[in-house]
Amino acid sequence: MALSIATPIALVAQSPIAPPQVAPPAARAWAAIRESDLKRDLYAMASPEMRGREGGTLDEMRASIWVAEQYARLGLKPMGEGGTWFQWFNLVRTRVSSTASTASIGGTALPIFGDIVPISVVPLEASGDVLWLADAADTTVDVRGRIVATPVVTPPPAMVRTTSYPTRVRYAEAAIAASLRTLERRGPVAVLLVASDSVDAAFDAVSVQRARGLYDVDHATPRAAGLSDRVAPLPVAGSGPVPAFLVRAALQATLRQQPNATLSIRLERFEAPSVNVIGGIRGTDPTLRDEWVLYSSHQDANGVRLLESGDSVLAGADDNASVSVAEFAAARAMVAQRPKRSVLFVHPGSEERGLLGSRYHSAHPVVPLSQVVAVLNGDMIGRNNPDTAALLGAQPPHRSSAELVQWALAANARTGKFVVDTLWDRPSHPEGWFFRSDHLPYARLGVPSLMYTTNLHPDYHTAGDIPERIDYPKLLRMARWMYLTGWYAANAPKRPAVDPGFKLER
Ligand SMILES: [Zn+2]
Repeated sequence: MALSIATPIALVAQSPIAPPQVAPPAARAWAAIRESDLKRDLYAMASPEMRGREGGTLDEMRASIWVAEQYARLGLKPMGEGGTWFQWFNLVRTRVSSTASTASIGGTALPIFGDIVPISVVPLEASGDVLWLADAADTTVDVRGRIVATPVVTPPPAMVRTTSYPTRVRYAEAAIAASLRTLERRGPVAVLLVASDSVDAAFDAVSVQRARGLYDVDHATPRAAGLSDRVAPLPVAGSGPVPAFLVRAALQATLRQQPNATLSIRLERFEAPSVNVIGGIRGTDPTLRDEWVLYSSHQDANGVRLLESGDSVLAGADDNASVSVAEFAAARAMVAQRPKRSVLFVHPGSEERGLLGSRYHSAHPVVPLSQVVAVLNGDMIGRNNPDTAALLGAQPPHRSSAELVQWALAANARTGKFVVDTLWDRPSHPEGWFFRSDHLPYARLGVPSLMYTTNLHPDYHTAGDIPERIDYPKLLRMARWMYLTGWYAANAPKRPAVDPGFKLER
């Protein structure tokens, strides 16, 4: 399916865009940002050998060590725990146990995540005759207390997400959601959704997704306003959503006979280590060096999944090796010419599992957050139209600092000269892009924060996000833009002011 990428609209500056009173970087600093370095680093970080750097796996750790090596070579100071490059934290995973759970229909055992895919992460003990519901929308049938089987409905087009994962998976997920929308409220004990032919085509891919379960991290900043910083207790039977299952289309004939079904679903919870990589450059000014500019680029991607068009590694070249290598480039420039304030280079782990690394670091910062003057985060900066880019956090209610936005726009006018898209920063944008990267936890805590991005594309979160598809001249301009914004923030006489009354809409 084609992506609809709206025509960008240039940001209209309220006044002529002026940088802060800061001398421009020296030629030797500019010379340290090179397209050839960006390209070499990106091919290494998004290579098949990195196996998609999935958070909480050995693949992420391999990438983390590689990232730390880049900074060690540049002579940065390790800023993690105990004089290392690393800040460790534990992911908390909750998932349906494929070994302790069982399901049988008409006396035949179905392998969990093989022929029956639990959609919800809730425990269940249920047994009884299946009630066949030919149409999920038929409200004349009383489904209370029953194990209901019904064919998945065709989802309305608006429910099919436009980005993330291959089209057939997005279609299948939308069909599942549409089928459950009203059924869930009618009191069944469990719902068996029978795949249509198109959903069946995505069955194994949906299974791989769903088997992963839920991810969280303890003692982090809350995922959203009003939530606790603690991991939610393990769900007990009957406490969560109605247990729903996807079964293969071939099971339809059996289920129409309304056979007996027995479903015993157990959950398992365990921890797995993930890691933020953090290096720093100390500033030159005896007073200002106690303040920090924080660059951020998640190091993880989405690992190895189901084989799609001959590849199973979700290499994450744009997402997010592109920003990571731009961050290395900014570090090279700042080693060549140190700014007045200090600079922290953070590569959060497990961003793809729910901004886990940045939520952890913002709760346990390696330097006081009150001393962080700006967060410059990036996510995917190497694709789409060569002349456009987006700056999120540039307009209310996402704007935390009008001053920092002005500096970023001034830096753009002197580097990438991009037409700055404003649509993706709007609260009405369906992708909610502002809420999907690592600047968010810092913004929630009132730290001036920006996100640089060239937005989504059809290869997002697929095996097609590979180094060959990156626009390197564009990436170079984005890297220069991020660097110069950081240079301004690190040398400005005064730190950027937080907008009075700054409050996110959710
Ligand atoms: Zn990303």
